[in-house]
Amino acid sequence: MKDMDPTEICEVCIVGGGYSGMNLARLLTTNGVNCKIYSAGYGASNLWAGTIDLLNFPCENLSIELAKFQVSIPQHPYAKIGMDLINDSLDEFFKAFPNFLAFKDGNNYINQPILTMLGNLKLCVGLWDTIFKDFDKFNPESLCVLIEFEEFNNSAMHLVAKGLQSQFPGKFLVLTLSLSELFAQIDSDLAEKIQDDKISLNNLAAFFDSQKLSMGILANYIKNEVGNQYPKEQFDKISYYLFPPVLGIEPKKVISSLNNHLLGKSFELAALSTSLMSRRLFNQFEQKLELLSTQINKGFVLTSLERHGLNWNCIFEKVKGEKVQILAKNVVIATGSLFVKGFLADEAELANKFHELNLEFPGGLGHDFEINSTKDCSKVFAIGSAAFLMSQCTDEDEFRDGTGLGVAISSSYAVAQKIIREHTK
Ligand SMILES: Cc1cc2nc3c(=O)[nH]c(=O)nc-3n(C[C@H](O)[C@H](O)[C@H](O)COP(=O)(O)OP(=O)(O)OC[C@H]3O[C@@H](n4cnc5c(N)ncnc54)[C@H](O)[C@@H]3O)c2cc1C
Repeated sequence: MKDMDPTEICEVCIVGGGYSGMNLARLLTTNGVNCKIYSAGYGASNLWAGTIDLLNFPCENLSIELAKFQVSIPQHPYAKIGMDLINDSLDEFFKAFPNFLAFKDGNNYINQPILTMLGNLKLCVGLWDTIFKDFDKFNPESLCVLIEFEEFNNSAMHLVAKGLQSQFPGKFLVLTLSLSELFAQIDSDLAEKIQDDKISLNNLAAFFDSQKLSMGILANYIKNEVGNQYPKEQFDKISYYLFPPVLGIEPKKVISSLNNHLLGKSFELAALSTSLMSRRLFNQFEQKLELLSTQINKGFVLTSLERHGLNWNCIFEKVKGEKVQILAKNVVIATGSLFVKGFLADEAELANKFHELNLEFPGGLGHDFEINSTKDCSKVFAIGSAAFLMSQCTDEDEFRDGTGLGVAISSSYAVAQKIIREHTK
């Protein structure tokens, strides 16, 4: 084992750099609280598909449903937060990330159905703003063209078309395009370069960002292919285009450029690529944290947590055995529930460890996501999916009731409020 790096000191040590850890870091730093993120690296956030899930069942009134949770599943994260804080956390999030669309009816968030990659409908309170959601606008005359790129060789668009056709009036046609053909039309050198680099969703998105002024070429290609593949349809009768999410890291600009060239309205189906949608949100978080000079240290696994006077001593190990020691007043466990590493991964070991530290576990997750401790001044919290790990909620509870980004946003907000209040006392 190599020598330990000199001890670093911070007010809040955040363990885990998924959306809950990054959201907490953003809120704390914005309010003058010094914090650092140490993260193993890969988590559920890297697979996120583009929506903000809250509850997994239809409900007219979220407040009423959440009030029921507080009575029937008191250990559920939402039962601890309550509707007011959830509302505030979502309001703050949507303001900070304008690339999202919030589903609201007046001041209330509503669970709206959106289309998923399997062509079925899923409930969420918000989503990446280009996802196709205008179902109520379909009528028997509407003609919707779903664009598929043959290089990806998947049948997702056909499933989506099938799902739409079974539920809505109008006609849904899949149009197959070739990316190589499109690149060759734009620039033959580029076609070769992209082939050499191997087509990935990420490099395509970057390409479309840089080429948004050439969208006229894509629009003409679509027009010609509609003629070739559907000779009986008239191009000017097409009301909607549904694209897979390869259209740029900043898809808004590319889509508005496409809408200038196509007569119909273009949308992008967010949920068709988990990796790309999560990359987009990571990019935005990382940019914000960089502006706030907040460090995200990747490749660090928390291997030990001990009391050190009134602080916590956190030991992290890097892949090659280097160790880093952090002294922090507060520790926030944001390790998720799917890709947890180190001693946090073993429930029995975790229970023993917390017992030794005089922290109540399991089921010890108090209000504001504090893991109950005997000392007042230094605290340990659990947020995001880790809140499930630390409470008595089972995986079945998580799947049945719904959690997702809704829990990551609202629990990190609740903990941020608590730490900020203590900090400004
Ligand atoms: C395929 C898939 C699709 C999804 N799609 C959606 C969706 O469309 N909408 C939605 O609302 N939700 C979705 N979810 C759920 C959502 O992605 C998660 O609920 C959310 O991202 C959890 O964030 P988190 O920060 O709590 O945990 P994570 O993202 O899991 O982050 C935990 C972090 O902690 C790190 N870590 C773990 N152990 C340690 C350790 N010992 N020391 C240091 N670091 C550690 C991990 O490496 C990781 O970086 C999806 C989940 C999956 C798997």
